[in-house]
This record gives sequence, C-alpha cells and structure tokens, in this order.
Amino acid sequence: MSARILDGRSIAQEIRREVRLEVAELTKRTGSVPCLATVLVGNDPASTTYVRNKVRACEEVGIVSVRIDLPADLSQEALLHEIARLNRDPSVHAVLVQLPLPPHISERRVLEAVLPDKDVDGFHPSNLGGLLAGSPLFVASTPLGILELLTRSNVTIEGKHAVIVGWSVVVGKPTAFLLLQQQATVTICHIKTRDLGFHTRQADILVVAAGKPGLVTGSMVKEGAVVIDVGVNRLADGGIVGDVSFSEVAEKVSLITPVPGGVGPMTVAMLLKNTVQACRLACGAAGRHGVELVR
Ligand code: NAP
Repeated sequence: MSARILDGRSIAQEIRREVRLEVAELTKRTGSVPCLATVLVGNDPASTTYVRNKVRACEEVGIVSVRIDLPADLSQEALLHEIARLNRDPSVHAVLVQLPLPPHISERRVLEAVLPDKDVDGFHPSNLGGLLAGSPLFVASTPLGILELLTRSNVTIEGKHAVIVGWSVVVGKPTAFLLLQQQATVTICHIKTRDLGFHTRQADILVVAAGKPGLVTGSMVKEGAVVIDVGVNRLADGGIVGDVSFSEVAEKVSLITPVPGGVGPMTVAMLLKNTVQACRLACGAAGRHGVELVR
C-alpha cells in the first residue's frame, strides 16, 4: 500500500481539544455554557449509537447536552411542538434532529422547523441558501469535517478537480459547494451519471458518499489522487465498510480515509464546533456573517 492514511480520529481529537478550550474561554467571558439538544425519534440502533456518541463527545469538552428521546409512533405535530419548545428555550443553543425519521414524518418539514440560529446540522433552507451565497450561519458537520480534514492535512484544494459521488443535502451537495468555495473545479455524480469511472478517474480529490460498498474500485481512481470515503455500510457480520475498495484503491492514491476512523470522527468534532458557534451567536459573542469558509 502506498497511500498515506488520513487519520480522522487523531485530527478530530485535536479539534476536540481546541473546542474544550473554546468552551472554557466562552463560559468565562460570557457566563454561557454551550448546550446542544439532540432529538431522537424511535429506537433505531444505528441512530441511538450516533446520538450516544454525540452526547458523550459533548460531555468530554464541557458542552451541556439535553437528550430528548421520543417514541417511534409520535405524531409529526407533536414533534414540531417539541422543536418549537426547544427553539424558544434560551438555555438551548443548538438543536439536532437525528435522521432518519419514521416514514410518517416529513423530514423536510421537521428540518425547516428548527430555528436557523440553532440549526447546527445546517439543513435548514436558509443555511443551505447561505452556503450557496458563501455565508451560511451553519454548514452540515460532515461536509465541514471533510474540508477540515483536507485543510489540516495540507491538501491544496484551489485549482484541483474535485469529483463528488452523491448529491444528497446531507453530504454531496454541501461538500460540492464548500470545495467550489475553495476554488476547486467540481464535478457532481449521481445515479444517472453515465460511466462513473470516467469521472472518478479525472479526480485529484475524490469524495464518495453513495452508501454503496465497493462502488469505487482501483481502476476508477487516478494515481496520486486524494480519496475521501464518506460511506458507512454495515455488513451482515456486523463489520463496517465504506464505499471504496480500500486495499486496491490505497495502492494507487496518495491519501485515503479509512472507514471507520476517517470522516465519522470529523463529523462529531465539527458538530461540537458548530454548537459553540451557536452559543456565541445566542449571547452576541459572534457576528451574523456566518461560518468562515477558509480560502
Ligand atoms: P443518500 O441520501 O442515500 O445519498 C446517496 C447519494 O449517492 C445519492 O445522491 C445517490 O444518487 C448517490 N448514488 C447512489 N448510488 C450511486 C451510484 N451507483 N453512482 C452514482 N451515485 C450514486 O446518503 P447520504 O446521506 O448522502 O450518505 C451517503 C453515505 O455516507 C452513507 O453510507 C451514509 O451512511 C454515509 N454518511 C456518513 C457520515 C459520516 O459521518 N461518516 C455522515 C453522513 C452520511 P441519486 O440521488 O441520484 O440516487
């Protein structure tokens, strides 16, 4: 294997240490302790694990977390009511609704109900629009984590050809706009893209977020490329793999993220950063010009 591993775990650990200091400084200066409310509807095992990890990460850095676990048969109206209550609560600075929601609830409707100032997931249309305009209050944690991983690993983005596989609101689209903001030339691929390999082979930076194990093989990448594997796929034996055939791709590229231990820990770290930013916004310690999208 020739590729260097992009170690999301250690970079995320570094960010968490920074966030812990930021929390202490903010609390000392303003008297406010950042607080994240997580809303979980139902008891999907993966979602429950994600929420537990987020709560634990908050505790580690001194962020207060309020965990709201609701039954799977909760009505949409009752959930919207709960979100409205969190929006009004001045002690809660950030609200995260764990996805997916049960099928009888409209995710779009629920995500639009979260106050943009507390929308640390960055899924509210006003924050998505802000990203397009270059000044969102919040950007989704996974795309932000990908940008941070590249930046802290000294990967030059400007002028590079970035190819993104997947165009979801959660990962693909915001990642594409973040990289465009850094003046990469961006190609977005989706299910109707003809000859996926033709596009992925052009990539200097390849981000794969399709949720399909083994989608990207060794013959689909360029020598020396940087590969970010966002996919999290649970196998029947309980193991977790990404969307990229790790061993054969790692033979050809210069940098690659492992799964697990790549993008996942970065997502949690950036959620913590966004929560501190939400607290700063609430107590007037930050301007409303939005996230600094480093360039
Ligand atoms: P999603 O909403 O299901 O989106 C998947 C995207 O991939 C869709 O846009 C889809 O295109 C595209 N796609 C699927 N198969 C494709 C193919 N054969 N060729 C080209 N495009 C294809 O999933 P998501 O929320 O974006 O998440 C993607 C993956 O990342 C999942 O495995 C998820 O678990 C993982 N994830 C990881 C983290 C983390 O922190 N590590 C965070 C979020 C998500 P169409 O829409 O055109 O069908």
